[in-house]
Amino acid sequence: MQHTDIIIKNGYIVTINPEMDILENGALAIEKGKILEIGNTEEIEKNYTSDKVIDASSKIVMPGLINGHSHIAMTYLRGYADDLLLHSWLEDYIWPAEARFVKAQFVYDAAYHACAELIKNGITMINDMYFYSKETAQAATKTGMRAILGEGILDFPMAFHKTPDSMINYAVEGHKEFKDNELIDFSIMPHSIYTCSRKTLITAAETARAHNMLIHTHLSETQKEVDDCLKNHGMRPVNYLNSIGFLGNDVSLAHGVWIDNNEQKLLAEKDVGVNICTECNLKLSSGFAPIKGYKENGVTISLATDGVASNNNLSILDEMDMTSKVHKAINNDPTFLPAEDVVRMVTIEPAKIFNKEDEVGSLEVGKKADIILLERNKLENMPMYNVYSHLVYTMHSESVQDVIINGKVLMQGRKLTGIDEDELFEKAKYYQRELQKD
Ligand SMILES: [Zn+2]
Repeated sequence: MQHTDIIIKNGYIVTINPEMDILENGALAIEKGKILEIGNTEEIEKNYTSDKVIDASSKIVMPGLINGHSHIAMTYLRGYADDLLLHSWLEDYIWPAEARFVKAQFVYDAAYHACAELIKNGITMINDMYFYSKETAQAATKTGMRAILGEGILDFPMAFHKTPDSMINYAVEGHKEFKDNELIDFSIMPHSIYTCSRKTLITAAETARAHNMLIHTHLSETQKEVDDCLKNHGMRPVNYLNSIGFLGNDVSLAHGVWIDNNEQKLLAEKDVGVNICTECNLKLSSGFAPIKGYKENGVTISLATDGVASNNNLSILDEMDMTSKVHKAINNDPTFLPAEDVVRMVTIEPAKIFNKEDEVGSLEVGKKADIILLERNKLENMPMYNVYSHLVYTMHSESVQDVIINGKVLMQGRKLTGIDEDELFEKAKYYQRELQKD
């Protein structure tokens, strides 16, 4: 008998392993933040004991959801400005508010609130771009959230930065300071091709590669961005990035709405993944990502919420439902994007995009213990014939009961174990009052 940190038993385990195995009455043994063993409950109970045994009798047990693109420190701007054109939303509301309010403490508080909210949504890893990202790293560490973080890189001054080099160097510093932190991975995140010059983009990519850091940027969110790129560089955005040596398997893109067939082929060839933000693109009427083309051309794709200022929530389960239905409708094909594929787009596919498929994205021996449990015993979740259908079309974040990240139980029975929610309400109200003063 071996003693382990946690045992989860009697669960309906959705592994997302290469065989897509499902274990009814399955169990997991967790030790030192990793999955030590996975099998049927009888076997695991024969070989392991633990002081912490979670009975998952009525639960779906699955890998934690991955949010491929976010700006979590924008939490306090939730609902601050809606129903506007993208440029007006940014230029008249969001950027001026950010210029006044975005300080280290604001970012820490908002990111802390967001991490609590992410856990409640069953999200166990984010890929997040913002300013003062070391503050976000502190908040993620404190709450136990796994995060790939980057300082937004722009050609104009932002937060305390005067130059894009300052933004790039800040991320490299973060990479060094947090290198022993198991939850945090700093990366290089130029904001976009319309806010970064060619020189900035090249420096960003070269710096990332010199330090073995991932690269992430917004690309082709709107048709205007493509038109401007054609006017300024004589090429479409993916071809432009390729021409400056930017693309590689260390790169991921957010949005990728206006990407043509040749660009899709190039992304597949360069092994560049795309994180699709369906609800945000719908709300801002940016268009529909060419998911069918991506799949036909072999581009790895994942789902993401983007920031709550534009979403206005952090529910990946909502993104799954919406993406599936919208793309069935626009392709006039109800067989397109089956539920099983959609579940992969929030687990193993983003893990591949971020080159972390050996660590997260599925429940397999040796991987990090990033695990969520969803309740089946609810009127609205009964009965259940197909677990993937349930996850995409039936369940909402309220069904997420327990969340484990890196082997730590962060939520149990929908109660956050290390976070005082009342305190977060008070802080949110405080910032609301401050923002309303303007
Ligand atoms: Zn974004």
